[in-house]
Amino acid sequence: RCSKGEGGFSRGELSRYGNIELSPSSGILNYGQGLFEGLKAYARADRAGYMLFRPEENARRMQTGAERMCMPAPSVEQFVHAVKQTVLANRRWVPPQGKGALYIRPLLIGSGAILGLAPAPEYTFMIYASPVGTYFKEGMAAINLLVEEEFHRAMPGGTGGVKTIANYAPVLKAQMDAKSRGFADVLYLDSVHKRYVEEASSCNLFVLKGGTVATPATAGTILPGITRRSIIELARDRGYQVEERLVSIDDLVSADEVFCTGTAVGVTPVSTVTYQGTRYEFRTGEDTLSRKLYNTLTSIQMGVAEDKKGWTVAV
Ligand code: PMP
Repeated sequence: RCSKGEGGFSRGELSRYGNIELSPSSGILNYGQGLFEGLKAYARADRAGYMLFRPEENARRMQTGAERMCMPAPSVEQFVHAVKQTVLANRRWVPPQGKGALYIRPLLIGSGAILGLAPAPEYTFMIYASPVGTYFKEGMAAINLLVEEEFHRAMPGGTGGVKTIANYAPVLKAQMDAKSRGFADVLYLDSVHKRYVEEASSCNLFVLKGGTVATPATAGTILPGITRRSIIELARDRGYQVEERLVSIDDLVSADEVFCTGTAVGVTPVSTVTYQGTRYEFRTGEDTLSRKLYNTLTSIQMGVAEDKKGWTVAV
């Protein structure tokens, strides 16, 4: 916990998963003052413990988000220490290698009571964890996406670039409607021109055309994914030119390959995108860039390949 003016979070403790007590007038319940993070602990292939993937990046993203949401944030050291303690306390729930991971959900909320619209007087940082399999029911197989024109996820000047809880509320209906029509997820367009693709509900987007990979520049309306940043580097290592720029719907529909990246989805290929009633198809399968990047990324995350970049943290 951290109170305003107290100068930092007090030492935390481990407790059994269960309900928490919260004032009905807490900042989180009334004004959505909250952030979350998502990361995974993977079982090492040699069974010698667990691996976290770039947890300091999650800590830094929470700090950036806290600035936007007028909240204090735990230090990088506090964050990573708390994540490690959570993994150690739940080690028997880490699925065997190749069968999922332990998903870790850090939350930072305005827990103090406040009636008038203002930042809360007290904050709580907590973490819970759960075993998870693949995110989409398709597993790691290719998915179908629907380009959404009616609903937007974020707007310029808003909070789309940070992982605040309220970003996920506008997504619920759009995602449910798309799922009821057989799509795995929605692809959102920018809210100003309705012409540039941004991201899906919980993952970033990449398009490949020839030897060039493009991904939408994050510029405030797109979450800067940690998988996204890692995939940019891994694609460059493979000799691809990677551009972070505006990606128009025309760039998307004429691409050779399309794929999504995120902690939950890994690197998931997109086989079709439906836009204004037309279904566009993309290359999938063994011989695609997305499959190669998936293999490289997962072998680093599970300790199969040597981690030359220092991305993993052993627990
Ligand atoms: N975009 C959104 C909206 C997300 O919720 C996530 C998941 N955190 C991502 C992208 C992917 O980010 P990361 O690679 O850090 O998981």
